[in-house]
Amino acid sequence: MRTLIAGNWKMNGSQAMAVAFAAELRRFMATGRQIRADMLICPPAPYLETAKRLLDGLPVALGAQDCHAKPAGAYTGDISAAMLADLGCQYVIVGHSERRTNHGESNAQVRAKAMAAHAAGLIPIICIGETEAERDSGQALAVTAAQLRESFPENVDGKGAVVAYEPVWAIGSGRVPSLDDVEGVHRHIRNQLLEFVSNGAMVPILYGGSVKPENAADLLGVPEVGGALIGGASLKAADFLAIAASQGAR
Ligand code: PEP
Repeated sequence: MRTLIAGNWKMNGSQAMAVAFAAELRRFMATGRQIRADMLICPPAPYLETAKRLLDGLPVALGAQDCHAKPAGAYTGDISAAMLADLGCQYVIVGHSERRTNHGESNAQVRAKAMAAHAAGLIPIICIGETEAERDSGQALAVTAAQLRESFPENVDGKGAVVAYEPVWAIGSGRVPSLDDVEGVHRHIRNQLLEFVSNGAMVPILYGGSVKPENAADLLGVPEVGGALIGGASLKAADFLAIAASQGAR
């Protein structure tokens, strides 16, 4: 399985930023330097079409940050998975902790979105992760396992979905769990996937939460870490590339 380095721009950026980002990617690729990871950018929805055009010919996939669970209908302001696929997306993030917290998304809703994404031909990136209070009370493994089991799409093979383990307290905080803790949760997630998903060994498990160029090689070297979901550091092409280039550099 190739490592997946995914950038989530959240509600950041502009047309100009997308142009500058793609230009930097193009300059990097022109140097002939190798990146041994798959790369994915998830810009805000209004920039997906621009990003698709700008990324043309670059080895970078396009993804969205959310989708609606229904294929079409009277859902003002929402975007269906089929529309994202129509725009050229290959992936969509579902159940990011900011959506779970700010929009009250439940595991059942996240699962419905993941199933809609799969039905539209997209690969859902299903986010799970414990809060700081849950970790402090020793519940990190139980909470992430329950989120996983209740959010993972039904009848989807391990090749059709990605899981992102993102401890909520590590997102945007500059704090990162110890490598042993990351390994412990990732191994637990893998064991769950092996139990209830067909081809559960094939599901890439990304780590997310304050991944930077400085800590990426260590995190990507942890057993069962199949890549990274990156927020803040994905806004600068140089940092995003440095993280992707750190795959296998340890
Ligand atoms: C995220 O929001 O998915 C994330 C991991 O953010 P950051 O890298 O900024 O911690």
